[in-house]
Amino acid sequence: MRKTLLAANWKMNKTAAEAISWLNDFYGMAAEKAAEKDLVEVAVCAPFTALYALYQERQRLGAVMGLGAQNIFWQEKGAFTGEISAAMLQEFQTKYVICGHSERRVLLQESSEMVSRKCGAAVNAGMTPIICVGESISVRRGGLLRQWLEAQLYESLSFWDNQQEIVVAYEPVWAIGTKQAATTADAQEACGYIRQILRERAGDIADDIRILYGGGVTPENISGLLICDDVDGALVGGSSLDAAAFDKIVMAAVE
Ligand code: PEP
Repeated sequence: MRKTLLAANWKMNKTAAEAISWLNDFYGMAAEKAAEKDLVEVAVCAPFTALYALYQERQRLGAVMGLGAQNIFWQEKGAFTGEISAAMLQEFQTKYVICGHSERRVLLQESSEMVSRKCGAAVNAGMTPIICVGESISVRRGGLLRQWLEAQLYESLSFWDNQQEIVVAYEPVWAIGTKQAATTADAQEACGYIRQILRERAGDIADDIRILYGGGVTPENISGLLICDDVDGALVGGSSLDAAAFDKIVMAAVE
């Protein structure tokens, strides 16, 4: 049984003060109560400074929402200016780490080999990587979707021993930031391919791995995405910045 996961990806948005204010709004809403009853899992992947603020405020409120980071480095410590280690993230009970987001793959030339090393650092420290894969519009138009996903997954998963918990997020690059998600059929096709690829690699374990859809998710389109057999939740960017909108998205998964 795969529990639905709704993970917010705040990207480079929200100061610590704004994050605290968001959490106080969200805490009073239906989604936090649904997560308390274990009907759904909710996590917020925040900038590091906001993550620390959320950690403290979550303790103060007694909220159950999980915390996630948006990056990690594979070395334990040392001369790696600007990077963050697994131990630093663990210090404030970070559960998830987004690895291989297309914005990092494209803007910062993060390769799948680097993504795999980052995922390895996360799982070795007991955290769960949310591994992002997805195609550009030219790859899709060229009919290369399955090959693309296969290559990205194969290389990004070289750390994996088939046992550690992972989450895969299918994020078509052409849908990110648009408020125009993939259609139900397109989301199911791609997430179905991902499950097949995971099955070829890890057998029946593939049935336990959560695959999220991400890119243009809104309160209006989430229900259509969650009916797909192979979509087990969503990674939500822009629509998660507003607590009320994210609440509606989470509640659509509960209903
Ligand atoms: C993302 O980039 O991870 C994402 C889901 O963005 P958005 O929802 O804004 O398309």
